[in-house]
Amino acid sequence: MVQLQNSECDLLIVGAGPAGLMAATWAARCGLNARIIDKRGTKVFNGQADGLSSRSLEIFDSFGFADRVWKESNHLLEICLWNPDGSGIIRRTDRIPDTIPGISRFQQVVLHQGRIERFFLDSLEEYSDIEVERGVLPVELDIDHSKSEDYDAYPITVKLRHLGDDEATPFQHSTNVSDGLFRSSLAKDDTDDLIRKSKGKQGTTEIVRAKYMIGCDGAHSWTRRQLGFQMEGEQTDFIWGVLDIIPITNFPDIRMRCAIHSVESGSVMVIPRENKLVRLYIQLTEVSSTGQQADRSTITPDIVLKAAQKIMSPYKLSYDYCDWWTAYQIGQRVGNKFSCDERIFLAGDAVHTHSPKAGQGMNVSMQDTYNLGWKIGLVVNGIAKRSILKTYQSERRRIAQDLIAFDHRFSRLFSGRPAKDAADEAGISMSEFKDVFEEGIMFGSGLAVDYGASMLVAKAGDSADQGDGADVRPLLNGHTNGVGNLVGKQDLASNIKMGKRFPSFQVLNQADARPWHFAQYLKSDGRFRIIIFAGNLKDTQQFKRVQTFGENLAKPDSFINRCTRPTKPIDSVIEILVIHSAPRWEVELLDLHEIFHPFDKKTGWDYNKVFVDDLSYHEGHGEAYKNYGVDEERGCVVIARPDQYVGWIGELEDVGDMDRYFSRILIPQA
Ligand code: FAD
Repeated sequence: MVQLQNSECDLLIVGAGPAGLMAATWAARCGLNARIIDKRGTKVFNGQADGLSSRSLEIFDSFGFADRVWKESNHLLEICLWNPDGSGIIRRTDRIPDTIPGISRFQQVVLHQGRIERFFLDSLEEYSDIEVERGVLPVELDIDHSKSEDYDAYPITVKLRHLGDDEATPFQHSTNVSDGLFRSSLAKDDTDDLIRKSKGKQGTTEIVRAKYMIGCDGAHSWTRRQLGFQMEGEQTDFIWGVLDIIPITNFPDIRMRCAIHSVESGSVMVIPRENKLVRLYIQLTEVSSTGQQADRSTITPDIVLKAAQKIMSPYKLSYDYCDWWTAYQIGQRVGNKFSCDERIFLAGDAVHTHSPKAGQGMNVSMQDTYNLGWKIGLVVNGIAKRSILKTYQSERRRIAQDLIAFDHRFSRLFSGRPAKDAADEAGISMSEFKDVFEEGIMFGSGLAVDYGASMLVAKAGDSADQGDGADVRPLLNGHTNGVGNLVGKQDLASNIKMGKRFPSFQVLNQADARPWHFAQYLKSDGRFRIIIFAGNLKDTQQFKRVQTFGENLAKPDSFINRCTRPTKPIDSVIEILVIHSAPRWEVELLDLHEIFHPFDKKTGWDYNKVFVDDLSYHEGHGEAYKNYGVDEERGCVVIARPDQYVGWIGELEDVGDMDRYFSRILIPQA
């Protein structure tokens, strides 16, 4: 077998599904020398995941491609609950909003995974030379633990094999409709077969030495198996079929998201999609086995359709066009470890599997690597300390555990038979189902994520893992504990929660009066941000406070200057943004300290850093101060991490605390 030259890279990503592509996107934005490989010869073209949460759209917006998704996707506005009445006929019993009004500027949408992957690929092409290398399989993995703490080392060695076309093409169950069985939980993993086939086969191998590696290689993760990590949890005996069809039906809510429970025939989830498609998630009671892995060869699109017809009776349902179908058995499991030495990480389905009905798999998987990518980027670029990498497991494993716990409750309620009356204990209470469904809407939006106390989140709490190994106990607001952990002042901004993502409201650009959702300025470019709520700049005392704050930040030995390479622009590691509450007409941008609108010899002043909470000509008043819960006179200061999660809140005078926040994370550059 021909062996290609050995090579080195900063980051090797195994698997180009949603988690892998998100990791690659961060690598592109942080300028890493990264590679992303996938054993499959092609991307996903149809089927698979389709639900995108509000938070995923916010993340896409921070990378600049949410508009493409927003335009192409089907928007989900209302959920209808259908349950059997006293005589067993299904009836609409409730309508609830699909996204809780006001929680985000984006509502939940659906668009199939193949399109989402396309947007990622286009973005990679625009920002980097990173290309998905398809038909490439890792076959050996080794890590030199003795070098794990050496910033410059390449402790990971991976042997890659380049597959032939036939090996890289997934087997399709049926000939005329593409199916997802090769990736469903009922399919056997083929990685071992491919590795075995490699013996004596034509092709090439190569050795890659990497600083970091992320296993985004799905539920059967090869990377996880090489590390010997375990999945903890259980396999359920619910089997679900999925049909993507253009339905021909007299069911009145076919263009609504519906949860339909029948008396005895199981349940259906209806998800209206783009291009007149509708996805049906159907519980296949007739092929359910108890505890054993089911035989997928017994499942066909026709069986899935018949099950749906029974549940939705007396309404009629048929189709002429089927876009995709699959079947799966729900496993609810979380990985026991998400990282080896903070050098090799696992993300996405490789560390959590659960039912797809809550629409979380793709979202949570992408959000795993959204949490991790910038951390690796900053460490590789010599900007941040390696200890921040510990927060990946402490932050994301808890989210995965919450997801499994939620999925457990939701699946049981969704898959169970409706109770006949209050005395029917074996049945499911439909009012409990509605309550859990509503709770699930908040959870599913991705906006309930609330990271615990760590070196990146300076809040009171008893987080299991501080990242830097320090002990954290509940503390008073604005104080520190005995080991020097920092706690910000939450009460200064009641609706900007430390540990949660920075919310967005409309503000106006001071220089040109254009209205913006403020989060549009929190781009995913690897920079921390200091957001100064400058308060009422018309008040002389307050103006002085803001100017003094600017002078402190601009001092040669300030943390900003210490953490920024002298050859780089002052805002290249930490960007400062200002929102003030004085009338726009009564403030002159250039009266503010220069650090709030830095000067560049070639392009002049920066006009995109100072904003005002004022009435716009055409789009009303964002009432940002009121919505953020910040005092309009005195304001406050907020630190947002590169992923927009809030790290610290304090007064304009708390520059020392900010210094401590950044000193724990960033590496001095002088
Ligand atoms: P995957 O998407 O599984 O990607 C893993 C990638 O790694 C694949 O491209 C694979 O080819 C590659 N790979 C695997 N092993 C190797 C190896 N050894 N070497 C190299 N490459 C390898 N989620 C939602 O959010 N919403 C939904 O509505 C939804 N519906 C779903 C419906 C169905 C029918 C199914 C099956 C899943 C659904 N999901 C949904 C779940 C969602 O598809 C997954 O959770 C999501 O794709 C996980 O992303 P990932 O990147 O972690 O893994």
